[in-house]
Amino acid sequence: MKYHSLNHSAPPASFREAVIRGIAPDKGLYFPDQVPVFPEAFWRQLGERPMLAIALDLIRPYAGESIPDPVLERILEETLNFDFPLVPVAPNVFSLELYHGPTLAFKDVGSRFMARCLGYFSSRSPEEVTVLVATSGDTGGAVADGFLGVPGVEVVILYPEGKVSDIQERQLTTLGQNIRALRVAGSFDDCQRMVKEAFVDRELSQGRRLTSANSINVARWIPQMLYYVFALRQLGPDCDPPVFSVPSGNFGNICAGMLAHRMGMPCRQFVAATNVNDTVPRYMETEAYDPRQSVPTISNAMDVADPSNFIRVQKLFGDRFPDLAEMLTARSYTDDETRGAMRFLHKTCGYTADPHGAVGYLGLMDYLRGDANGPGIFLETAHPIKFRPEVERTLGIQLPIPERIRGLLDKEKMAIPIRKYEDLRTFLLDTRGSRKAP
Ligand SMILES: *Cc1c(COP(=O)(O)O)cnc(C)c1O
Repeated sequence: MKYHSLNHSAPPASFREAVIRGIAPDKGLYFPDQVPVFPEAFWRQLGERPMLAIALDLIRPYAGESIPDPVLERILEETLNFDFPLVPVAPNVFSLELYHGPTLAFKDVGSRFMARCLGYFSSRSPEEVTVLVATSGDTGGAVADGFLGVPGVEVVILYPEGKVSDIQERQLTTLGQNIRALRVAGSFDDCQRMVKEAFVDRELSQGRRLTSANSINVARWIPQMLYYVFALRQLGPDCDPPVFSVPSGNFGNICAGMLAHRMGMPCRQFVAATNVNDTVPRYMETEAYDPRQSVPTISNAMDVADPSNFIRVQKLFGDRFPDLAEMLTARSYTDDETRGAMRFLHKTCGYTADPHGAVGYLGLMDYLRGDANGPGIFLETAHPIKFRPEVERTLGIQLPIPERIRGLLDKEKMAIPIRKYEDLRTFLLDTRGSRKAP
């Protein structure tokens, strides 16, 4: 499989090149040249095959030319070594829980897969790879955990001081080894700006590969299709095609589900559920793409005004709006509506959702009101404990601390404070070549 840039003025890339570059030289997103379609029998027989074999079949066309089968199988096995349970919350309504990985959010899947692919590529090249990433919360932890101990790869994470939750900060500052955290006196946008500046700074890329691990990387985007298929497998062969409702911010997650659909996965509809950052719901109504300033909400991982991956969603439907509109419904919800859904789920269904999952639930219920012929699945993208103050306040309960993060709470935070781009630059120049022999 080759990948082309959606800006159409960069040369085609292999999977390896697309993963290492992250973004094409013309600043376009990489997109696969073809989307392979799997026969009906493949989808009907999901339940008869192990999940790993299914995953390997689905990913091989995208990565197989750059990674030999036994390696790809090992990478997938390590990526998918936790559960993706489909939990019934009401008749024909299910929560697909994507938070059973090490950092308690769905981003573990893409980050772990990308880290292992990059580790494999790096092991076959003399160049040191430095992954530079800005985070507003969940990405940093998932990337740090995914890359921990991967040989030949250094990770530098920038996060805004005082603007991430305590658990999120601990997830990215307590690991040590090849992971380093820089605490920025500023906002997430400041972090992002510094990272962008570093990528165009020639001196920094001498003797090392500087790459990014954000959600536009094909190695983070594509494997996210797998848990949609695992959900279908759990529904069983006699079930009607489901509706998937996806709480969406940068639209990478839903775009991966739609990729699976284009590969033949049976499903009835996708619902993109957003908070008041509603660029896509307005677009689906008016066909005018008009991003505004982003607004802070209680589902803050979705506070995105200009979703990077939406262009890929459009490409999957050949840029034909009517075809897209047939498969995609988009709705936006306020924080009050989100809290209302969290309370309803807790009181009536005995289910504790985080604010993001609750937005997904709202989108699903609105859709099912108009078309209730079959199962509905909302994606629960993070563990409620990650948004503990909001969840506890809204539900008036105390959340038990899951075993997996208990150890985290008494580890020491280690971060280097920085203020401006020059500080980042000095740090990167000082640490160059610290891992690999020259
Ligand atoms: C990142 C994130 C989202 C948004 O996912 P996109 O792929 O950016 O649309 C939703 N929920 C949680 C908890 C997240 O961390």
